[in-house]
Amino acid sequence: MPELPEAEVAARQLREQIVGSLVNDYWLGREDIVREGLFLLQWFRGARITGVERRGKSVIIAFLRAKQTKFLAAELGMTGLLLFRKAPTKYPQHTHFVLHLEGGGESEIRYWNPRRFGRLSLLDQAGLDQYTSRRFGPDPLVMGPMQFVRLLSSTRRRLKPLLMHQQAIAGIGNIYANEILFRARLHPDQAANQVEEKAAMRLYEIMGDVLREAINLGGSSVRDYFAPDGTEGQYKRRHLVYAKSGNTCPNGCGAVIKRSVGERSSFYCPRCQRIRSPRFD
Ligand SMILES: [Zn+2]
Repeated sequence: MPELPEAEVAARQLREQIVGSLVNDYWLGREDIVREGLFLLQWFRGARITGVERRGKSVIIAFLRAKQTKFLAAELGMTGLLLFRKAPTKYPQHTHFVLHLEGGGESEIRYWNPRRFGRLSLLDQAGLDQYTSRRFGPDPLVMGPMQFVRLLSSTRRRLKPLLMHQQAIAGIGNIYANEILFRARLHPDQAANQVEEKAAMRLYEIMGDVLREAINLGGSSVRDYFAPDGTEGQYKRRHLVYAKSGNTCPNGCGAVIKRSVGERSSFYCPRCQRIRSPRFD
């Protein structure tokens, strides 16, 4: 958290408010929040923002100055947020970087990250290409159904870790992986290459539906997530299994939602989501 929908909401709000803005100044609270490109920082003073894109769970902002384009990549995965000045921050000491802007809809973008699992990177075009190719597999909202079916059939990896493996498919984390698999009635530990093509196609459709609906509802506000303008996402109300262990299954099957023990908990219905092996079905 944030995952793809929250990063997409952030990218859209930024695009709407700050494209065309000029960077007046910046403030860097701690140098170790910049993963790479710290030496480029001064270049950004006086640059104009020309675009905002999402890659996986990261937001990439493009800047133009003296006919050169450079980029700021902000990792939002886990605990990072990009916030406008008006957004309330509970713990302002966790703001590590601020861009002061003029000429657009917002006067500041702040990078807020209480646990510092994410970082900022300052990149030129070659650096950005390397940054994205190293980190991100195909985007689940861009890849085609057959590409997804091929991805599943190519690996014995279990479904949930596969959906969360950013180099295989970029942007899905623990919350949406659980919600998607429950709706697709597939067990989180199901081996990917044992999912039949028809079920894989269904999973692809559901994955897109869940992510798009979550974007439309502003994402899920779990723990400390806010959109840049300070609003909370409403998709949390649609969660069916995430953090709902002990509740009865929303499908009405009579079973109780289980939580697996592990680093990233799986929430699933043991009756609706059974491990299937095509050899025995
Ligand atoms: Zn059930």
